[in-house]
Amino acid sequence: MEIHLNIEPIESWGVKPTKPFILSGPCSAESEEQVLTAARGLAAYGVQIFRAGIWKPRTRPNQFEGVGSVGLKWLRTVKQETGMLTATEVANVKHVYEALKMGVDILWIGARTSANPFSVQEIADALQGVDIPVLIKNPVNPDLELWIGAIERIAGAGITKLGAIHRGFSSSEKTKYRNVPQWQVAIELHQRIPNLPIICDPSHIAGRADLVFEISQQAMDLGQDGLIIESHPNPKIALSDGKQQLTPDEVGQLIKNLKIREATTDNIKFTQSLEELRAKIDMIDEEILAIIQRRMNVVKEIGKNKKENNIRILQTDRWMQIIEKAKQKGNSKGLSDEFIEKLFKAIHQESINIQTEILNS
Ligand code: PEP
Ligand code: MN
Repeated sequence: MEIHLNIEPIESWGVKPTKPFILSGPCSAESEEQVLTAARGLAAYGVQIFRAGIWKPRTRPNQFEGVGSVGLKWLRTVKQETGMLTATEVANVKHVYEALKMGVDILWIGARTSANPFSVQEIADALQGVDIPVLIKNPVNPDLELWIGAIERIAGAGITKLGAIHRGFSSSEKTKYRNVPQWQVAIELHQRIPNLPIICDPSHIAGRADLVFEISQQAMDLGQDGLIIESHPNPKIALSDGKQQLTPDEVGQLIKNLKIREATTDNIKFTQSLEELRAKIDMIDEEILAIIQRRMNVVKEIGKNKKENNIRILQTDRWMQIIEKAKQKGNSKGLSDEFIEKLFKAIHQESINIQTEILNS
């Protein structure tokens, strides 16, 4: 169901509309010099919003936890010197008050905070009556309702300059990403709140600099509105997230190389062939469902057999065989291990559910 929130477009934040819309800056503000060097470099490529973490949510204690309030003065200097707007993460009421006092222009709520309704509500209460853009990162776990809930809490405080940041989701499985992008979740968010700008954070999705471009391009191809990219003058010596940060020049290169494609066209030939291909896809999808139904019918037979013979459901060896065989066959058909594993896990889970129902009937 569509949710109606009073949301102003990005231009209302006080920036010129650009495609894509870019926020960039270091993971953490480390020193006045580091912040200013990054900002000057980025401003030269037309970046209008400078991000920098002042308070850093670190996984383990005794890591660099941000420079704290002193860094807010550096952000003020960035604004005075380059004219860029500044943005930082707030995780509690004290952060909100200090950032507002020092004139930070845009706030964002981090992934660990947006997973916690108590924290989000406290931040929302502190923002009551304040007119400032607030961006809400997805919670670390792929829970769309929790993400929407955080957005609604901030909207409930009267904030109308709202945006969401897709920064990927943590996963127990090993993948090439630090935080797996779940584009489907972001797409669903767009369907639920169509006027909410969505910004992609390719840096925290990637976890490594060499993947940042392809993720940014994908976000653009999916129609997302902007990018928030971590950039450090010298990533090798960064105090946090060194592996994923780009230099300002690399950010400039990325912006130049991005292809911004149109959402639609009135070219009849293109539209016709797209319609035909979509009709094909619809038919294939129906076939897929019919095949899965056939598979589940066989699963039901097996379930009945197991019940009659008093055999338990899960046979680990058999499952390992299935998945290995599927991966081999899938590979030869150009399908990735990651996809095959996800697909077969879902099928296997459904098969277990069906058998459980039979055993308990
Ligand atoms: C960040 O943007 O620096 C950050 C800590 O991100 P996240 O909340 O997405 O982990
Ligand atoms: Mn970071």
